[in-house]
Amino acid sequence: MKEKLEEIRKNALEDLKKGVDKAEIENLRVKYLGKKGELTQILRGMGSLSAEERPAIGKIANEIRQNLENLINEAGNKIKDAEKEKKLKSEVIDISMPGKKRNIGHRHPTDLTLKAIEDIFMDMGFVIEEGPEVEYDKYNFEMLNIPKNHPARGEQDTFYINDNIVLRTQTSPVQVRTMLNQKPPIKMISPGKVYRSDAADATHSPIFYQVEGLVVDKGITFSDLKGTLEMYTKKMYGENVKTKFRPHHFPFTEPSAEMDVTCFACGGKGCKVCKGEGWIELLGCGMVHPDVLRNAGIDPEVYSGFAFGFGLDRMVMLKYGIDDIRQLYESDMRFLKQF
Ligand SMILES: [Zn+2]
Repeated sequence: MKEKLEEIRKNALEDLKKGVDKAEIENLRVKYLGKKGELTQILRGMGSLSAEERPAIGKIANEIRQNLENLINEAGNKIKDAEKEKKLKSEVIDISMPGKKRNIGHRHPTDLTLKAIEDIFMDMGFVIEEGPEVEYDKYNFEMLNIPKNHPARGEQDTFYINDNIVLRTQTSPVQVRTMLNQKPPIKMISPGKVYRSDAADATHSPIFYQVEGLVVDKGITFSDLKGTLEMYTKKMYGENVKTKFRPHHFPFTEPSAEMDVTCFACGGKGCKVCKGEGWIELLGCGMVHPDVLRNAGIDPEVYSGFAFGFGLDRMVMLKYGIDDIRQLYESDMRFLKQF
């Protein structure tokens, strides 16, 4: 029986040398030490031994059992350690590796230009007002003296949500909303996106930006309009820029004018930018029509005001020498990276 025990020990040691993974170690534990294991079988058979042999064999058997238990545990721990090591190595972060470059982009030329314009008007005490792009027909047209069937609607054909709701064709409804919600003095600009049902080409886009301004207070005159716009023009395009006002017609202002500036590319001599004219048409303006004030609950006998508006996209195109408005909306990185 002693020989049998030694044989088991020898086999077990050999098996352990081969044992490479967790599952195999567990199999060995069952094979030798389990309830039906080889060693257990031997210990069960000890009853057949003589009283003299029993203690000696028992001692050897227990030693072997203890020994195997230790060896199996040790082998198991070694495998665990090796697995842990492997896992740590696979998860190691190479801090010497250069970081991934993030493409954070930069501001769009339209945004850059708008920011410059906003800064100038804010310096002059204007507040920026915003309003919905999906707007009531009433605010977009009717309250601005453009009733249904008015010819001005033809030039401002837009997208209709229903008979009473449109995509705004101008930022003027923000002026209406501001007059309805605030008492004069009002001094605001309303930059934002507007919509027209125009097919896209080099100079037209169904979506574009406008910047409009409104001042309403007691004693506001056309001189205030001219002074304000001249100040804006000089700050935006330089001290030497000259302005001129040509009579015009808008439904919501009376009198109305269009303002031209001397070409900021050639200084008035005539060039490609101004198409040889020396002047560039910049914006429309005028004194707020008394009916528009009245519609908004402001007494035109007490208050007067002026308003102006221009297309931001054209300003951007002139500023950067862009010849196609579609480039401002196509998000082509090759184009945008230039600014
Ligand atoms: Zn020019």
